[in-house]
Amino acid sequence: MIHSVLVRAAKGRVTEDAVVFPVFSEAKRLAALAARIDKGLDGAAAAVLASETFRGERGETRVVTVKRGRRWANAVVVGLGPRAKADAEEIADALGAAARSLYPLKLTAAALVVDQAVAKEAPVPVEFFVHAAIKGFVLATHDPSLGAGTTPTLRRLSIVTDIPARTLGGIVRRAHDLCGLVARVRDWVNTPANRMTPARLADECRKMCAEYDVACRVWSRADIERARMGAVLAVASGSREDPRFVVAHYNVEKKTLPLVCLVGKGVTFDSGGVSIKPWEKMHEMKGDMAGGAAVIAAIACAAASKLPVRVVGLVPCVENMPGGGAFRPGDVLTTSSGKTVEVLTTDAEGRLILADAVAYARSHYRPDLIVDVATLTGGVVVALGTRVAGLMGTSEDHVDAMRTAAERAGEPVWPLPLDDRYFAMVKGEISDYKNYAGRNASPVTGGAMIGAFAEGTPWVHLDIAGTAWNEGNGPSYQTRGATGYGVELLVRFLEIVAENR
Ligand SMILES: [Zn+2]
Repeated sequence: MIHSVLVRAAKGRVTEDAVVFPVFSEAKRLAALAARIDKGLDGAAAAVLASETFRGERGETRVVTVKRGRRWANAVVVGLGPRAKADAEEIADALGAAARSLYPLKLTAAALVVDQAVAKEAPVPVEFFVHAAIKGFVLATHDPSLGAGTTPTLRRLSIVTDIPARTLGGIVRRAHDLCGLVARVRDWVNTPANRMTPARLADECRKMCAEYDVACRVWSRADIERARMGAVLAVASGSREDPRFVVAHYNVEKKTLPLVCLVGKGVTFDSGGVSIKPWEKMHEMKGDMAGGAAVIAAIACAAASKLPVRVVGLVPCVENMPGGGAFRPGDVLTTSSGKTVEVLTTDAEGRLILADAVAYARSHYRPDLIVDVATLTGGVVVALGTRVAGLMGTSEDHVDAMRTAAERAGEPVWPLPLDDRYFAMVKGEISDYKNYAGRNASPVTGGAMIGAFAEGTPWVHLDIAGTAWNEGNGPSYQTRGATGYGVELLVRFLEIVAENR
């Protein structure tokens, strides 16, 4: 994967073996900077544009190999599609296709021409255009095989641009930081559950926090017992692996800033427990900690950009197994809030551990907002598919802010309805709540059970069960398997919280 992204002066010579020229489908000729650089490639890119076979559709690519002095170089023309449709997700998707077109060439370095004139034509601000272009290109070079494969060889990307440094600001560095964090989330989520145990996940979170100057404490089983997190302990009880609880603090001491608690589901493997899942897709359940991973990476990213906001990250880490000591359907659990939950299926374990964590967030921190992120329900995949996450909450303003964040991040969300009718569906008969309310409206009732534990605190819920995993129909910058969805979404959301403070 690309691990170095640098800005190169627009006037200098471009020596990389591949030079990428993004163009909108309306473009008849190259913009000024691109045209000058293309001269060094015998006008190969201009010839592609002039030809009638290239239409500039999003992700359409042409690689032309030309002699440059004593070496060979490659002009890569990539279509951005029509201007009016070029949002953050589409721009990243197009540049991901450009990176993919270079896989067979086995190059290690590429240059990306970002002409100010082209960036200004997009309907998104120039900063977002540059960010999305870098993100799309870099993330498409991530190797999802955890080192076993040989696909993407690219290591370095140079950004050749005439956008003034003051406009560019820290965008290039921030995009690079984000890509590194998203790649690590993908690696964690792709790692098999025999390696990514609750203890290992907590340890990886702790290491990431240390690198980004985020304070982090990992609770042991004894700490979790002391906090009376009966639901976390119950879910962990069928596994030989001890649970952990990750507590990350960024800026928490700065009392004048708004405080957001991010709570992420960290189920390192979900067999379903005693209510065991069918085998066909069970191996994908190593990815049931994607929400927790996204939460910690988002805090690291916020810290790297020094965002003026206070953030607490809470990640209960457990493995849900059907061992002899496992909790059972029919059990009544007492959560850290004292409220009880009847277990109707042990496979609805995410809402159980998140109920404990959300209750702790509310009572211990008294935050302005709680956001939980979880691969929660199969129902959300049925409702929205794998490209759009489910969104709901008790604070309309914050739900709206999350939708804006999703547009900026190119990580789509769609709001689901949530009102007292749904909260009523999770009321228990022999307990305060039940952990399953049937198939009807299952993504909503799943969220509602978590939200009930936020009590009066504003709360937003993201169900990423569909978007955390790419089965092959995702945008081109997503490699197969884990997507890293949610990291940028949360970062953009925290930016909005900071803007509105
Ligand atoms: Zn489950």
